[in-house]
Amino acid sequence: MKEDILLAMLARSDGYISGEDISRRLGVSRTAVWKYMEDLRRAGYVIEAVPRRGYRLVSRPDKLIPTEVRAGLDTVRLGQAVHYYTEIGSTNDVARELALKGADEGTLVVAEKQIKGRGRRGRHWVSPAGTGIFASLILRPNLLPAHAPILTLTAAVAGAEAIHELTELPVGIKWPNDLLIRGRKTAGILTEMSAEIDTIFHVIIGVGINVNTDSFPEELQYVATSLAKEVGQEVSRQRLLQLFLQRFEKWYDCLPSKRDRVLDRWRRLSITLGRQVTVFSPNFTVQGQALDIDQEGALLIHTTNGEQVRILSGDVSLR
Ligand code: ATP
Repeated sequence: MKEDILLAMLARSDGYISGEDISRRLGVSRTAVWKYMEDLRRAGYVIEAVPRRGYRLVSRPDKLIPTEVRAGLDTVRLGQAVHYYTEIGSTNDVARELALKGADEGTLVVAEKQIKGRGRRGRHWVSPAGTGIFASLILRPNLLPAHAPILTLTAAVAGAEAIHELTELPVGIKWPNDLLIRGRKTAGILTEMSAEIDTIFHVIIGVGINVNTDSFPEELQYVATSLAKEVGQEVSRQRLLQLFLQRFEKWYDCLPSKRDRVLDRWRRLSITLGRQVTVFSPNFTVQGQALDIDQEGALLIHTTNGEQVRILSGDVSLR
C-alpha cells in the first residue's frame, strides 16, 4: 500500500520529490522511505537520489506487480485484487486454492515464471521468466455448468482483441482456446471449473501469452511464436494484461443474457470456421468442414460422411 502511494507520488511529480516531503505525506520516518525506495529498486525501478533535491523516478520495469497492473486499469472487478509471484508452480493451481478460500470474483494470480505451467489434458505450457503473461482469473459466473465453455471463448475473444489493439497483428482464434498469429500459437487458455451438476462454485481462467519470448524449445520452434517476434520489438506486458482484463470484463458482462454478442465476436475472430479440419479426441477422430459453433460453444462439423456432428472438446488440426 505504501509502495502504491509512493509510486503515485513519484510518477506525478515532473522532477524531484524530497525524502522529507514523502515521509511527511506518508506519515513514516525517513528511514522507512529509504527502505521503500530500496524495495522498489530491487523490483526493477530505477530511482535517482540527489542530495538536497530528493528522489526521481527514471524508469519502471515491465513487471506484472500489483501496483503496475492496477495503475490505469479500467475495470470494476477483474484484476482489482492481484496476487503476484516471481515464480510459481501453476497460476491456475494457486487461483484454485484462493477460490476455495473464498477469494472475490475477479481476483488475479500472476507470475513472472511458471514451473509447472499447464495446458489442456495436463500438457506442459512453456513459461520462461519475465517473457510472457502467465495469469489466472477467479470467476463466479451466473451460468449453468453446461454453459461454462463459453467462458473459454470469451477469454479467447478478449485475448485476441487485446493483442490486436496493442500490436495490430493479425491474430485469430483456433477453436476453442488457441490464439494464432500467421499460423503459429501465441497464446493458450485453460479453463478449469469447480461445480455440482447445476451450480458453478468457481471457474479459473488461465491465460498464457508469449509476449517477449525470444526462443522456444526445439519441439515448439515451428509451431509457437511471440508478439515480439512478430512485431520485431518488445511489447509491454503490463499494457497487454490491462487490455486483456478490460476486454474480458466487457464481454463477461454480456453473459448470460447477451451471449450472442460474444459468440458473434468469436465467429468473426475465428480461423477455424469454414475450414477443413480434423478433430482428435481421446475417443474419436472426425474429419470435415467446421461449420459453426452453437450456443454452448460446441464446434459443429459437417463430416466427410455427410453427417453433422457436435464436438464439445478436442484438438483441432486445420488443413
Ligand atoms: P494444440 O496446440 O495441439 O491444439 P491445445 O490447444 O490442447 O494444443 P494446450 O493444451 O492449451 O493446447 O497447450 C499445450 C500445448 O501447447 C503443448 O502440448 C505444446 O504443444 C504447446 N505449448 C506449450 N507451451 C507453449 C507456448 N509457450 N507457446 C505455444 N505453444 C505452447
